[in-house]
Amino acid sequence: MTAEGHLLFSVASLIMAHKLQLTPELAQGDWLHMVPGALLGALLPDIDHPSSLPGRLLRIFSLPISKLCGHRGFTHSLVAWLLVMAACYQWMPIEWQVPNDLIQAFLLGYLSHLIADMLTPSGVPFLWPLPQRFCFPIIRGKNSKRTERFIAVILTVCACFLPIGYQLDFYSQIENVIKYIHYQLDTHFAI
Ligand SMILES: [Zn+2]
Repeated sequence: MTAEGHLLFSVASLIMAHKLQLTPELAQGDWLHMVPGALLGALLPDIDHPSSLPGRLLRIFSLPISKLCGHRGFTHSLVAWLLVMAACYQWMPIEWQVPNDLIQAFLLGYLSHLIADMLTPSGVPFLWPLPQRFCFPIIRGKNSKRTERFIAVILTVCACFLPIGYQLDFYSQIENVIKYIHYQLDTHFAI
């Protein structure tokens, strides 16, 4: 996926997380903190590729990481995301006074990168060091760039139309789906 695709995805995810009130910080945070945070987070995983944007800016880190782990290796995993979270909350000096909404948007942007890369055929080793790669390859072929943009725009539009404070009642949605399947089975196979 391109850097542009990742940036668009991170903004769409941020608007979605804000509307769904995923955390109080993301619900009430300052957009001037959250947008740069999400954009930075969305670029960071590709530091494992020396010719990517973060790889070129931070060559001192990208060269050893790409040699050790290869592209779409460790940095594209849950372990890396948890380590970044630990770095933000445990190891970052308090004097830096980085706002919490910026940190949360940064972590969200990072996660959006991993999910977006899962939409491509090569996927990501989400449970690294396990070798399995996770992918739902809906972005593929010659028009992949256009598909990236299309999905990001659809996500952003859906996020914008979500009412503020909309609660995604996951369990009742699942219950409704099961009820619907039961109903369909009953009506089609009733003796
Ligand atoms: Zn990537």
